Amino acid sequence: MKAAVLFETNHPMEIRDLAQDPPKSGEVRVKVGAAGVCASDRHVMTGSSILPLPVVLGHEAAGTVEEVGEGVTHVKPGDRCILSFVSNCGHCRTCRIGLPNICETNLETGASQYDGTTRLHDGDSDVYQMGKLGAFAEYIVVPQQACQPIPDEVPFSVGALIGCRVTTGVGAVINSPAARPGISVAVFGCGGVGLNVIQGARLVGASRIIAVDIYDHKLEFSYKFGATDIINSREVDPVEAIKELTGDGVDMALDSFGNADVLAGAVRALRRGGTAVSIGLAPVGATAPIDIVDMIRGQKTLVGSYYGSVSPHETFKKLVDYYLKGRIDIDSMLTRTYTLEQVNEGFDAIAAGEDGVGIINFDS
Ligand SMILES: [Zn+2]
Ligand SMILES: [Zn+2]
Repeated sequence: MKAAVLFETNHPMEIRDLAQDPPKSGEVRVKVGAAGVCASDRHVMTGSSILPLPVVLGHEAAGTVEEVGEGVTHVKPGDRCILSFVSNCGHCRTCRIGLPNICETNLETGASQYDGTTRLHDGDSDVYQMGKLGAFAEYIVVPQQACQPIPDEVPFSVGALIGCRVTTGVGAVINSPAARPGISVAVFGCGGVGLNVIQGARLVGASRIIAVDIYDHKLEFSYKFGATDIINSREVDPVEAIKELTGDGVDMALDSFGNADVLAGAVRALRRGGTAVSIGLAPVGATAPIDIVDMIRGQKTLVGSYYGSVSPHETFKKLVDYYLKGRIDIDSMLTRTYTLEQVNEGFDAIAAGEDGVGIINFDS
C-alpha cells in the first residue's frame, strides 16, 4: 500500500510501500478517492504543529469503504464517504455535552487508533495517521465513526473539501449564535478556510462581507464566493479600513489565518457587542495582545471555533445539501490537482500563496 510518509520535519514526504493491518473491531478500510492539500498538514511538516513521526499526513478526504471489521454497523463495503478527522467516541464529557468536534478520547489517542496502536508499519517501525486518517495513502484503516456516507452525485474531491475546509469555514459562521441576516462580517485570510467563511457569511445573509488578505489575486478571487469589499492589509491598516467602510466596525470578524496580530486586529475591528472568531491555527504556544478595556466596554466576544463548532457530521450533511442545491460553490475552489507522487508540489503551492485549493486525485 503506497503512502506519502513524513519522517522528519522540514523535509519532503517520501512515497513508501507500507504494511497495513486489516481493520480491527469497529474499524473500516477505505480506498481513498481524493485528499485535500491543507495548511494544517503543512503546520506539521514545518514543526509548528506537533505529531509523532513517522506519520502519514492528509486529514481532508473522501473515499469508498472496502472492508469492515467486527461490529461495524454505521457503514458497509461500497459506501462512499466523507472522512472526519475527529472520530468522536460518543461517551466522553465533551461528546456528552454536544461537542463531539472536540472529543476528548480522540484528542488523547491522537494519531494512533482508539486502542493506542497503529495500523501502518514501515519495516519494524510503526507509522502514525494524522487525525486517525493519514489520507495521503491509497488505503486507510479508520474508526467507523470517521465515515459519513454521501450520495453518488458528490464527487470525491468535493467530499474531501467538505471533510475539512468547507466545514471549518462555513461551519464557523452558520453554527455561530452571532450569525444573523443583515450582519456585517470581516474575514481575515482568504485561503481555503477564509473563502468558506465568506461563503458561510453569504449563506446567513450578511449585508457586507469584507475580505482581508495580503495578496491582491486572493482578494480578487474572494469576490467569487461572496466578498463585497476587499482590503489589502499590506497596503493599509485593515482595522482602520474596516472602520472607515462600516462607520463603527463589523458584527463578526473571523481570523482564518491564525496569527497574534491578526486576531487582536479582528477584535479591534468589531463594533460594540460584536463577536470575533479564532479559526486559523497559530504555532503552538502563540498568544495575542487583546485590548482588555475595549473588550469590556465594547462588550465584545472572542471565541474559538474548531471543525465548524459542532458535530462535524451534522455540518457535513448540511453542506452536502447546500452543494447539491447549488447554494455553495466548492468546484470553483479546486484550482490544482496532483497525483500522490506530486504531494510535495501541492505544499509548495500553499507556501507560494497560490489561489484556491489543491487536491490529490487517486486513480478510480
Ligand atoms: Zn485541513
Ligand atoms: Zn468523545
